[in-house]
Amino acid sequence: MAASLALPMHHAQATETDVIVIGAGAAGLAAAHDLKAAGRKAIVLEARSRIGGRAFTDASLGPAYDAGAMFIHWAERNPWVQIARDLGIETPGESWGGGFRVFADGRPMTDADRQKRRGAFGQIDRRLETVDLTRRDLSVKELLGDLGPDMSQIASSGLLLSIGEESDRISTRDYQRLWAGDDLVVPSGYGNLVSRHGAGLDIRLNQPVSEIRWDGLDVAVTTPSGTLHANACIVTVPVGVLKAGAIRFTPALPARNRNALDGLGMGALTKIALRVEGDRFGIIPGTSFLEAGSPSRLMNFDLFPDDKDLVIAYCGGDHARELSAAGTEAARAHVTELLAQMIGPNIRKAVTGISFPAWWTDPFSRGSYSVCLPGREAARERLAEPIGGRIFIAGEATAGGGAMTVGGATLAGRAAAAKVARIKA
Ligand SMILES: Cc1cc2nc3c(=O)[nH]c(=O)nc-3n(C[C@H](O)[C@H](O)[C@H](O)COP(=O)(O)OP(=O)(O)OC[C@H]3O[C@@H](n4cnc5c(N)ncnc54)[C@H](O)[C@@H]3O)c2cc1C
Repeated sequence: MAASLALPMHHAQATETDVIVIGAGAAGLAAAHDLKAAGRKAIVLEARSRIGGRAFTDASLGPAYDAGAMFIHWAERNPWVQIARDLGIETPGESWGGGFRVFADGRPMTDADRQKRRGAFGQIDRRLETVDLTRRDLSVKELLGDLGPDMSQIASSGLLLSIGEESDRISTRDYQRLWAGDDLVVPSGYGNLVSRHGAGLDIRLNQPVSEIRWDGLDVAVTTPSGTLHANACIVTVPVGVLKAGAIRFTPALPARNRNALDGLGMGALTKIALRVEGDRFGIIPGTSFLEAGSPSRLMNFDLFPDDKDLVIAYCGGDHARELSAAGTEAARAHVTELLAQMIGPNIRKAVTGISFPAWWTDPFSRGSYSVCLPGREAARERLAEPIGGRIFIAGEATAGGGAMTVGGATLAGRAAAAKVARIKA
């Protein structure tokens, strides 16, 4: 029977499909493509009015920028290199023409302090090479423990801008296994690329799923438009959404999957984009500034990237959580003030707009990407264990060494589709 979600709830009849995929981000799209290629009928239910999830090219300020994912990480094995090539989309290497300047409380950092910073950053890699984690996991904060509070804080600050989380909440074992490699960029937008990859799939927008029932012979998935029944369901919503209980499982998730969710958190990497018009303040487009005076001010700025009238500020961890909770106007005032201290007061007049995709407070992401808590490094694999033989949790959080990335989400979506393909239609 053809699936339909057009009926209001009280008229909704049981409609059927083969597989329901929840979420139209990279993982959901990959799963749906593979199921389609295997001759299975899959419907993708997406809560937002757009596809792409945390890969989102935002053009609301005029010039577009990637508000979520920007880099095709570990390009040597990332499926998006080939997907882009097939679509005729360019993916050059990253090039920041304008250089990098570091500030402390609005003033250029002294050479001695910059030297100290470089020394501290090297410590994480050095310690990862020698630490013995065979008996027990450590948090990254513990890994850096005997460095002294000052150096440890500097070393940890890099993680706020990469993992988006405080070092006491990051498992060293999990951090150690994350894949590394070359980074490429997508000048036309990584988010745009992911969206284009949705072509040809049966995707239903504005369908926030509120319940998944798996106590019958099939899986019943409820949205405001009705209930849809399927043989199997792939759930790709972020772990932040699952942890918030936005989707009720009936019966409840098995203890192993729940326990896995407890072992994962969401980082809070956050970008704040300002439209800056009329003046470049003598700054070469593509320059990066880092305000590194104190953890509560730590913020990176990409100034006029690709010669666009934009400044993209980003930060992570608890500072980003506070800014997200404070809202757009507070974020604008904070970021503009930091810029004014580094560049001069005239920047205030040149800021004409703000876009603040606060992933931490966004109900459909609840954070930037998954972070494994110390001692809980089995959580990613455990979360992906099949539920009742018919429900499969996928998404970046389940991607092992590829976790936290678009490429990892895609591989996880494909892995879930392969498991579903073994179930009879
Ligand atoms: C600021 C930032 C920077 C990043 N930088 C990079 C980077 O440079 N490179 C990189 O590879 N990765 C980066 N990432 C991470 C990357 O964006 C994610 O890992 C990846 O997009 C996750 O894909 P996914 O399919 O697992 O989840 P998502 O993209 O989140 O897709 C899940 C989908 O489920 C939908 N959904 C949520 N709740 C419901 C519901 N109840 N019912 C139905 N649908 C629902 C969501 O709307 C979403 O569309 C970044 C992320 C952020 C936030």
